[in-house]
Amino acid sequence: MSQNLYFSKEHEQVRAAVRDFVNKRINPFIDEWEEKGAAPLHALFKEMGELGFLGIRYDEKYGGEGLDYWYETVMLEEIARARCGGVPMAIAVQTNMATPAIAEFGSEYQKQTYLRPAIRGEMVGAIAVTEPDAGSDVAAIKTFAKRDGDSYVLNGSKTYITNGTQADFLTLLARTSDAPGYHSFSLFVVPTDLPGFKISKKLDKLGMRSSDTAEIYFDDLRIPAENLIGREGEGFIYQMKQFQHERFSALPICYIGAEEMINETVTYIKGRLVFGKPLITKQVLRHRLVDWLSEIECLRQLTYHIVRLKMAGRDATREISMGKLMGGRVLNQVADGCLQMHGGMGFMNEMRVSRFFRDARLISIGAGASEVMSDIIAKLEGF
Ligand SMILES: Cc1cc2nc3c(=O)[nH]c(=O)nc-3n(C[C@H](O)[C@H](O)[C@H](O)COP(=O)(O)OP(=O)(O)OC[C@H]3O[C@@H](n4cnc5c(N)ncnc54)[C@H](O)[C@@H]3O)c2cc1C
Repeated sequence: MSQNLYFSKEHEQVRAAVRDFVNKRINPFIDEWEEKGAAPLHALFKEMGELGFLGIRYDEKYGGEGLDYWYETVMLEEIARARCGGVPMAIAVQTNMATPAIAEFGSEYQKQTYLRPAIRGEMVGAIAVTEPDAGSDVAAIKTFAKRDGDSYVLNGSKTYITNGTQADFLTLLARTSDAPGYHSFSLFVVPTDLPGFKISKKLDKLGMRSSDTAEIYFDDLRIPAENLIGREGEGFIYQMKQFQHERFSALPICYIGAEEMINETVTYIKGRLVFGKPLITKQVLRHRLVDWLSEIECLRQLTYHIVRLKMAGRDATREISMGKLMGGRVLNQVADGCLQMHGGMGFMNEMRVSRFFRDARLISIGAGASEVMSDIIAKLEGF
């Protein structure tokens, strides 16, 4: 049990409200949503928007709560207690992946038209960066937005887009020039009700099954020029900044998820008799659990350090990349080890641990693979 030095009574009130929501409005429906391959995001986000959960950090002028990164962390920690990875991921797309660039670099029009409804839960957002031929190497994307009068004509495709079958808008990175270098990309808000937006297919996945994932394409889709976020040619830089919010959101999901799994495993092995004694009496298992808890505590403390850096207005790319790298490692190790401690029961779909094992696998791939995090850290370290 981690000691609490960071959170006030007000933080704990927000924590209690989000926890209550997860217990009452998410957890009872997860099996059904996993089965269906999607959570009903319009209904779910509407409820969350009304409670103020989707705009914790955003300006009150746009319907946000105007709170700080500590409150955001509380919210992410509690969302992570959902009994699956898919729903927390869908929510984090809305709060930490598809909207930060609009809030930071978007125009007044974009904030009123997309950010405000996203905060209220009246619009579902998605982030569209990855393409069939470009994932880790973001600069290899080919989707092109060609300026034509007062609009841009968009052609290309995106894949693995979370919330993609339900999204009302995409925050999308496209090329706007063939020139080499990082100033050939721009970020747009693309409404999905425009002619030329097509969903090729809903993808079938190993895990995160309550989150819908789509492959989409654009066939001469005309984006109004007013939907260009910030300045043309700056999109790559905006997206790199937006990735920091996305990757940060993975950290609480990792340490809370891993901790929850350990709690369930302890309960299970206390009750499971093997060779006449509860499994928990085996020192090798107790020590393994303690090793994981120690790593989880390090990850939590790194996360709180990142929050302090962010609160001080400092760049935390190095620390966020380290947290994402470590989070993927810890989560997968705990998922695999906890499943092992459940024996054959852990392999059964009825157990939360089997879902956790499948969902955890994404963390070291999505939002920048572990190797990409290592490359970023090495570069920042100067080697
Ligand atoms: C369920 C799911 C949801 C997703 N949601 C979204 C979304 O909403 N929006 C979006 O834009 N994208 C999304 N993604 C895409 C995700 O971010 C990419 O899958 C990820 O960035 C990796 O890209 P890739 O799949 O093309 O792998 P590749 O780039 O082909 O890389 C394959 C593997 O190579 C290794 N590798 C990569 N670079 C290096 C290196 N420099 N050195 C050594 N090894 C390396 C890594 O292990 C990597 O996993 C999602 C993916 C999944 C699976």
